Amino acid sequence: MSSKLIFELNTEGRIGYRFPSLDVPEIPLDSMLKKDLFRQKPAALPQVSEVDVIRHYTELASKSFGVDAGFYPLGSCTMKYNPKINEDVASFQGFADIHPLQPLNTVQGTLELIYKTTESLCEITGMKWGTLQPFAGAHGEFTGMKLFKAYFKKKGDTKRTKVLVPTSAHGTNPASSHISGFDVEEVQADERGLVSVSSLKEHLSDEVAGIMLTNPNTLGLFEKDIVEIAGLVHEAGGLLYYDGANMNAIMGKVRPGDMGFDVIHLNLHKTFATPHGGGGPGSGPVLVSDKLIPFLPVPDITEHDGKYTLNYDKPDSIGRISGFYGNIAVIVRAYAYILTMGSDGLKKASEMAVLNANYLKERLKKTYHLFYDTTCMHEFVLSADTLHDEHGISALDVAKALLDNGFHPMTIYFPLIVHEAMMIEPTETESKQTLDHFVDVMLKIYDEAVKNPEKLKEAPLHTPVKRIDEVLAAKNPVLRWVKE
Ligand SMILES: *Cc1c(COP(=O)(O)O)cnc(C)c1O
Repeated sequence: MSSKLIFELNTEGRIGYRFPSLDVPEIPLDSMLKKDLFRQKPAALPQVSEVDVIRHYTELASKSFGVDAGFYPLGSCTMKYNPKINEDVASFQGFADIHPLQPLNTVQGTLELIYKTTESLCEITGMKWGTLQPFAGAHGEFTGMKLFKAYFKKKGDTKRTKVLVPTSAHGTNPASSHISGFDVEEVQADERGLVSVSSLKEHLSDEVAGIMLTNPNTLGLFEKDIVEIAGLVHEAGGLLYYDGANMNAIMGKVRPGDMGFDVIHLNLHKTFATPHGGGGPGSGPVLVSDKLIPFLPVPDITEHDGKYTLNYDKPDSIGRISGFYGNIAVIVRAYAYILTMGSDGLKKASEMAVLNANYLKERLKKTYHLFYDTTCMHEFVLSADTLHDEHGISALDVAKALLDNGFHPMTIYFPLIVHEAMMIEPTETESKQTLDHFVDVMLKIYDEAVKNPEKLKEAPLHTPVKRIDEVLAAKNPVLRWVKE
């Protein structure tokens, strides 16, 4: 069942609006605008009735899938259920209706909330201060790399042009260090799927600005040698960047600050409960150790005698990285989430996220290939390589078959170091019943892959759009409807 575009519902002369009759004198358009600014011909807007519009959008909405509709095990994305109380709080008029250019004495509550959220996040991560301005994880990484640059520039250390990134890092890590002007060097993973300490040692030199480390890494594994790694990088004069987008696995358990890290970003839209997807909305706070505080972006939020203000007086700052002060609605949700969970609740969330992932891993590893058979954190990576070699069924086919069974697919073909990767993150908010149902479906798909691979290649059969040519869609996107 494929939907029509709203343009295709067009019926000449139909309208869906009603204006009150004019009670002021009519002013001709050309007395207000220059003629050459006028359209040559009327815009080709669809002519539809109110009910046409309502039905059109209701139908589209019924086709979209979100975590409120079902299980969403998309690894590395933390698509967990977000308590609705956070939405309520974010829509309070005092937050929702303010303007960024209002005088500061009229937005003290919001400034206080930003300040206190920064304090809470510092406590959770073991860092000293930070900024909530970045709009995404990758934006936080970019900010962090700029902090690295500013730090070495201030020291007059111009030789440090390299940033080390393990092969098990999230793809945004090498991208962020590269776009910030560093040369990226890869550090290999060893047979455990962890950063190889001997490979790290080979790369360390006085040209290395530091390392960007995702922990738990993208295999869902905790870097066991993290303290040794931190020591080695610091000894070599480098800084340590912690990609904390996966904080969901370790909240209340360990703190990057205690492991010796200098910069960390969090993803509020993942760990701290904002519904996200398709590019937003996000927030990627950056928190730092003492030595990087002077370089944090302006404005900084400061407090004096219970009054909050925006401080621009930071001569060593990397400057502005957001138009005003970040994505306030996401920050409000995060603060509401932290307060409603409390420290015990946050710790429990991590414990449940890790337990759920290990439960799924143990049940699925007897059927699907698990490369790194060890306790995982909040996610784990299976491989469809044996299915592929023996039955011609790829990770993509398994993902498409999940769609027919009412689940959002897992992440596939990432991380790159696992062939035919299927990365599964159940999150803490799913019940055992849901996890068991997911296992049943995964086993059923495996069975079908073995017995009837041709049929599986046709999946999905029950979605509005079947298999699309993903390469063509990426290379030649058609984003605008044009009347023939
Ligand atoms: C999601 C994620 C990112 C990127 O975050 P965005 O908000 O999508 O930019 C970076 N690192 C890791 C480990 C992630 O899971």
